[in-house]
Amino acid sequence: LSAKQPESDEQSKEITVHPETNNPTRVWDTIRYKQKVDVVTPVDPATPKPKDHVRFVCISDTHSKTDRIPDIPDGDVLIHAGDFTKICRRKEVKNFNDFLGHTRFVCTSDTFSKTTYLSKVVPPGDVFIHAGSFNNVGLPREVSAFNEFLGTLPHRHKIVIAGNHELTFDQQLMTERNSHVFMSFASAFEGLKTNEWKDIRSLLTNCTYLEDSEIQVMGFRIYGSPWQPVFCDWGFNLPRGQPLLDKWNKIPEGTDILITHGPPLGHGDLASNGCRAGCVELLSTVQRRVRPKYHVFGHIHEGYGVTTDGQTTFVNAAICDVHYRPCNPPIVFDLPTPRVP
Ligand code: 5GP
Ligand code: MN
Ligand code: MN
Repeated sequence: LSAKQPESDEQSKEITVHPETNNPTRVWDTIRYKQKVDVVTPVDPATPKPKDHVRFVCISDTHSKTDRIPDIPDGDVLIHAGDFTKICRRKEVKNFNDFLGHTRFVCTSDTFSKTTYLSKVVPPGDVFIHAGSFNNVGLPREVSAFNEFLGTLPHRHKIVIAGNHELTFDQQLMTERNSHVFMSFASAFEGLKTNEWKDIRSLLTNCTYLEDSEIQVMGFRIYGSPWQPVFCDWGFNLPRGQPLLDKWNKIPEGTDILITHGPPLGHGDLASNGCRAGCVELLSTVQRRVRPKYHVFGHIHEGYGVTTDGQTTFVNAAICDVHYRPCNPPIVFDLPTPRVP
């Protein structure tokens, strides 16, 4: 006698066709007493995703009714389990692809610690962009408050650059301590220890901070840089001409979305005194070499709005007006999500 009893058909790992496969109702009636079927209540999408989790959102059988699908909750992975069209006409497939395939960018700039206003007006999206001057002078408590605010946003990716108001991020300015602006705020910086500003960016734990650097998110190449033409000796100020061009020369070709604090010449750069404040070499770099799809900036509050030169769309996302009152809504744009290998 063999010690090992042969497995019954139902226990064996090798699956064979059930003799009554064409009568599933009868099969179920015969096996149901051994089966368990409990109903599970799915996660309420309104509950925050637990830390270190990936959220899957599942849909199916939408049959080209994409305009009537109820709001699809935010998540990391959307799964569609089939029947996204009715008869699979080309147009249906295209519409479905349009419906699925966009990444929503939400752009802000020049918010000057006005997070109460911001939290009311920032719409959901995939990528949140802040193009500089998120606080007044860059004191650690301002930076931490902004970071906490970022933590409350639902966006999967949050990208922040510094502006001229982020004085503590400008390490040269903080080392030399002789800029007019630094000296005029000297009392605010009294008692600030070197180690509190040396690595101030480490307070920004809830976003990706870019400074003459790039990140790839959701298949888009995004580059950020804080520099702008000298104005009152603020942070990240550089003389017009070669010094700024040296910074723009670092922007890689192939950048899809460029973020700078200051505008290029001619787009969102008309200051209230009637002068064009944009950088000439930044415009040349954008138009002739880098050719990004979008260029997001702020700095000249009164230039808020969107323009295009036919090749690049320019977004001045300044939230505050020229009197530092937060009154403009964030600017949103959608781009078809590139296929990521
Ligand atoms: P912020 O202090 O936030 O960097 O700039 C606030 C305002 O200062 C802008 O909205 C604009 O009116 C003015 N401003 C900043 N930089 C320049 C500049 O380079 N030229 C001119 N004419 N105005 C500027
Ligand atoms: Mn500003
Ligand atoms: Mn500015």
